[in-house]
Amino acid sequence: MQDERVERDFNARSEEEQQAFLQQTWCDHCQQVNVGMINPREYLLKGTVFIEGDCLRCGNIVLTELTEDDF
Ligand SMILES: [Zn+2]
Repeated sequence: MQDERVERDFNARSEEEQQAFLQQTWCDHCQQVNVGMINPREYLLKGTVFIEGDCLRCGNIVLTELTEDDF
């Protein structure tokens, strides 16, 4: 079973890609897109890659779920 998070290296992505992920966000708290986030973490969980960060506006966790095409 793969119930555990497997850390991935967000910094291994290209600069362009990193910037896109940091800017193209959806925050549940702000209920707004593209507020932006900081402190990105990337991990694999149950076959899905997630990129998680802190919302620039409210500081809550912002989660981006990647579909297989984005890997
Ligand atoms: Zn927010």
